[in-house]
Amino acid sequence: MDTPAVAASVLCLILPAVTLGYAFTCWVWPFKHCPRCHGSGKRRSPMGRAFRLCRRCEGTGRRLRAGRWLFNHFHRIRRDAR
Ligand SMILES: [Zn+2]
Repeated sequence: MDTPAVAASVLCLILPAVTLGYAFTCWVWPFKHCPRCHGSGKRRSPMGRAFRLCRRCEGTGRRLRAGRWLFNHFHRIRRDAR
């Protein structure tokens, strides 16, 4: 086999493995920490000790992964179609 064929076959093995791994991760750990507030759920005032709840995660400190969000979206579409 020549080099492009080897590269294509390796890519065909790696791509499904990465996709299935991400799907498994979204199934087992559907949340990630909120990047805006670093998982604390609070947004601190630039001065003083005041804070407010993070608007991105609504104070929970966690965000739904993009893959899980997509799964839930299509799951709801399928459920509503019945
Ligand atoms: Zn947040």
